[in-house]
Amino acid sequence: MVKVRFAPSPTGYLHIGGARTCLFNWLYARHTGGKFILRIEDTDIARSKKEYLDEILESIKWLGMDFDEIYYQSKRFDLYREYAQKLIDAGRAYKKDDAIFFKYDFANVEIDDLIRGKIVFNELPKEEEVIIKKDGTPTYNFSCCIDDALMEMSLVIRGEDHISNTPKQILMYKALGFKIPQYAHVPLIMSEEGGRMSKRYGATSIREYKQEGYLAQAIANYLLLLSWSPGGNREIITLNEAKDIFEIKKVNKTAAAFSMDKLNWINGEYIKKKSPDEYIALIEEYLKDKDFVPESTDKDYLRKVLLLFKDRLSKLSDLFVRARFCFYDDYTYDEDTKEILDRNLSKEIKVLADKLSGITNFNKEETEKEFREVAASLGLKPKDLVHPTRVALSGKKVGPGLFESMEVLGKEKVVSRLNRLIDYWDKGTDANG
Ligand code: GLU
Repeated sequence: MVKVRFAPSPTGYLHIGGARTCLFNWLYARHTGGKFILRIEDTDIARSKKEYLDEILESIKWLGMDFDEIYYQSKRFDLYREYAQKLIDAGRAYKKDDAIFFKYDFANVEIDDLIRGKIVFNELPKEEEVIIKKDGTPTYNFSCCIDDALMEMSLVIRGEDHISNTPKQILMYKALGFKIPQYAHVPLIMSEEGGRMSKRYGATSIREYKQEGYLAQAIANYLLLLSWSPGGNREIITLNEAKDIFEIKKVNKTAAAFSMDKLNWINGEYIKKKSPDEYIALIEEYLKDKDFVPESTDKDYLRKVLLLFKDRLSKLSDLFVRARFCFYDDYTYDEDTKEILDRNLSKEIKVLADKLSGITNFNKEETEKEFREVAASLGLKPKDLVHPTRVALSGKKVGPGLFESMEVLGKEKVVSRLNRLIDYWDKGTDANG
């Protein structure tokens, strides 16, 4: 019977390394038709918090995973003490200063890791170690050993940072006569700069990525790719697809570097894949508590604005910067538009504003036609007019298609914003008019 577990400690939010370990366990269980156990390692009463536990459970679900059973180590303290007593009775542990110590025997420990191959542990653990603390709670290695054994784990998939614990746990298994499971140690996730992922280099918790507007499927997809490949240069794969072909033995041995660019690309692909309605629903949910879109915004207008950006986002929070001009008039011209604005085209833009205000059917085809005619009549290349027009309408150097943007903004806004730029040139008023 295949049985694996993910064993988070609720002393912090679910981080990306933990999420990937969880994904690998889930994929392995679902691929083999085995059981996936969630074991909450909340033995540290002081540091374990309900807030963290709730978030871990929520993130696991959000990422698209489910589990078959859940256990809380805090409810099993009696059991650990019972097994500690067995070790005392067998002469393998003893009591000192109100704590129980386990005496390691220095047997050679060797495992056949499913990812890393044969590992021989030459560095022997220290002679003895506390297994039950003064307050009666177990230490990690002991409760982990007892639970993995009693819950009959067939395989332990966990981060490589636990590799030094493995021989200790195996020696405890041996002392208790338990059957030793197989192991698969997953390589660490490194930051782009090298070194371990840390806050300094960006978000480390799943929750922060969610808040930034990353999609669950995209994060799961990217975390998988970090140390496993579906083969054939394939990069976009859902959990459901992955579960059919996932093999723990194919997980890379070497540490993977987290690339924000790659995650952004994958996330953008998942956003593009959404149907317009799915996309709108997703954004509405995302924006719910964000106070970004003014309340008075017309529903139809909101929809058009959001669709304008659909295929151009890497994450939903990009909207806050990129789409702000669609909801607010008080933007200034970005620093990097200075070069464009240095060329005073107020007369030409005036001609454009007048021509555009004469259009009755203000859509992208009509505005483009008029725009090109104006440019030609002034002896300008279209792009000479495109750049300042875009700055006028959005304050930005880059953005969605100019004529699509015009159609969405509507004639009144377009004309008044062009006039604002003219005043900026002619009267030296600031970008806000
Ligand atoms: N609670 C441990 C952790 O969060 C679990 C390690 C293990 O999987 O054995 O790192």
